[in-house]
Amino acid sequence: MPGYELIGSEELAEIQDVFAHGGVLFRHGFDALRNDCYKVRQFEQEFAAKMGIKHALAVTSGTAALRVALAALGIGPGDEVITQSFTFVATAEAIIESRATPVCAEIDTTLNMDPDDLLRKITPRTKAVIVVHMLGTPARLPEIAEICRRKNLVLIEDTAWGCGGNLQGKPLGTWGDVGTFSFDFAKTMTTGEGGMVVFGDEDVWKKAAAWHDHGHENNPAVPRWEDTRASSGFNYRMMELQGAVGIAQLKKLSGVVEAQRRNRDSLWQAISDLPGIQPRAVPQGAYDTADALVFLVPDNPAALRCREGLLAAGLATKILPEAYTWHFAGTWKHMPELVAAHGGNLDTAFPRSNAILSRAVSLPVGVKLAEDVPSRARRAIEKAMKS
Ligand SMILES: *Cc1c(COP(=O)(O)O)cnc(C)c1O
Repeated sequence: MPGYELIGSEELAEIQDVFAHGGVLFRHGFDALRNDCYKVRQFEQEFAAKMGIKHALAVTSGTAALRVALAALGIGPGDEVITQSFTFVATAEAIIESRATPVCAEIDTTLNMDPDDLLRKITPRTKAVIVVHMLGTPARLPEIAEICRRKNLVLIEDTAWGCGGNLQGKPLGTWGDVGTFSFDFAKTMTTGEGGMVVFGDEDVWKKAAAWHDHGHENNPAVPRWEDTRASSGFNYRMMELQGAVGIAQLKKLSGVVEAQRRNRDSLWQAISDLPGIQPRAVPQGAYDTADALVFLVPDNPAALRCREGLLAAGLATKILPEAYTWHFAGTWKHMPELVAAHGGNLDTAFPRSNAILSRAVSLPVGVKLAEDVPSRARRAIEKAMKS
């Protein structure tokens, strides 16, 4: 949750620095006016270094990051892209916006992509896979990356919830060909609106940088108005004020994740012995961001009772169960492309995902946790499980 819990004087100082250096709010050019102040560029370089990867490109949102990634990888009409049934609508929207066909794989008890169902859904038209680390827990990346290698598919990691996490020491977002991040106001670090794309391959990075900027190659040999181009594109540029905030937030990222993990552990310790509660499965070697504490209860009525009980105790759930329809593809009848790709009926398309998600409960975890919250949560959930 959390970047916003710690927003303050450091972010303000970075913004004031933009104005102290001439107030140029555009990421490119105006060199004579800006006294060497390039906040978006600096944010990209520091983010890439933090992730231990060569290249990063800042964009306007996490949704834009997915759209730019698909464009840079050459995914378009006629191509199928497989993502997972439990994700935010944005993942499917980016595929549809690319005029490719969205297909969803079932999830397993990690609540992320089931590698076996991914294998079943691959067709000769499949070009890419977008795996999502929902609510901060890594997907089964070793198996999924291996399938992509074997089947010659590009792998994109939607790391909107996984920023600052890793699997077996390798940062989330850097396992695939491309990783995307969101800095919207509810994410682990925030720039208000914003996103990032990270790349291991310099050519893909260059294509993405041009595509997100109307095709501009930012050729140093010519002024911008005479700039060279090799593709069309769009405008998904981040502005300097967002870059400034991002620089300050990035410095807080590791501390945010550490605090969330501590608080998640306190919450889990308080409820783990309650009968009927089963933890979410976590891949071996996962350093999750602990954006939420997710567990399974026996059935959907029990999940709904947990939410009601927590609300009555002045607490809350996060996404599951209350925002199910924004995050489960089985309910997205408003997306005709997805409906068609699944044979015209989403109700029966993801029975195993539905069986897991309908009995999942997710507690929000933040940087700050009042001392009495774990025991209050325990009382509310214990009561809900009994009734
Ligand atoms: C938040 C989110 C996005 C979109 O990010 P925005 O910055 O809000 O556009 C994409 N995918 C997932 C899984 C998300 O949770």
